[in-house]
Amino acid sequence: MKRAFYFLCFIFNFSFFLCGCSVRPYHSDTRLIMGTVFDIIAQDEEAIKKAFREIERIDSLMSDYKPDSEISRLNRDGRVKASPETIVVFRAAKKIYNLSGGAFDVTVGPLVKLWNIKANMAKDASLVKLPTEEKIKQALSCVSSDFIEIDEKNRIIKLKKRGVSVDLGAIARGYAVDRAIKTLKKCGVRNALVNAGGETYCLGAKGFLAPWRVGIKAPRNDNTANIFTLKNKAVSTSGGYEQFFVYNNKRYARIIDPRTGHPVDNGVISVTVVTDNGLTADALSTAIFVLGKEKGGQFARRFKNVRVRIITR
Ligand code: AMP
Ligand code: MG
Repeated sequence: MKRAFYFLCFIFNFSFFLCGCSVRPYHSDTRLIMGTVFDIIAQDEEAIKKAFREIERIDSLMSDYKPDSEISRLNRDGRVKASPETIVVFRAAKKIYNLSGGAFDVTVGPLVKLWNIKANMAKDASLVKLPTEEKIKQALSCVSSDFIEIDEKNRIIKLKKRGVSVDLGAIARGYAVDRAIKTLKKCGVRNALVNAGGETYCLGAKGFLAPWRVGIKAPRNDNTANIFTLKNKAVSTSGGYEQFFVYNNKRYARIIDPRTGHPVDNGVISVTVVTDNGLTADALSTAIFVLGKEKGGQFARRFKNVRVRIITR
């Protein structure tokens, strides 16, 4: 009995010793890509470098700033021979467009340009001018993902109408996070955290009995609104509180309702979605933001493994 007890103690101590030996320090690196700050935390520096290379590759395909990206060529020429990665994102975008009744729509490009939230944010409030209803109507005539045709077999994406312009701002970062995680896993990494602004993926755990914990910032102050303890999950937050401009005491957020042509104004301040991958989390958080608390909540219930937190005014 006594011997059995010592044997158990030995096993316990030996495994503890092994765990202690295998603890490698975490490294973290930060880069500005896709207009946002990407952070990667993992125990393998080489793997982190490779993951950043992958994020940069995704950006070079999907950026609407880089003139040679597949998206810029599509917007310019109305058609492009796309990479398998871009096809994956378009397929998902079209699916969420259909399921959300058009609330999520990557053809918001003309409206994003018209409302020009980024430029207006930088301006003095007295210099901000809102677009006319006429211009909004004009832009709206080019907004519908029904204008996107995906030829999966030949990997050709076409825009069926002149003036249609794609903006993957609501989905590409989540996908880039997934690709970074995939790269880390290929390098043998089992525990890591990838964060890109409002998009995060938690792979494995930080340590023995130490899960990854992600805090979501409260919309109106620097407090934490929620803390999620996550393992092999993505979390995405869409909010109207970080990028907006004010005109006549009213806030105009960067997420636009493609059904009205106006920035969303439905009382929702932020939407956080937790699910299995970054691409879905990113697209759903934007879609639910547009749909609002009630319809967005109903919409979310149609998906398996999706948790949602909606903060309203
Ligand atoms: P997110 O932060 O993921 O919610 O994405 C916001 C970005 O997505 C905006 O800056 C626009 O570039 C784009 N966007 C705005 N409204 C929509 C919409 N209704 N559907 C899809 N993308 C949108
Ligand atoms: Mg999004």
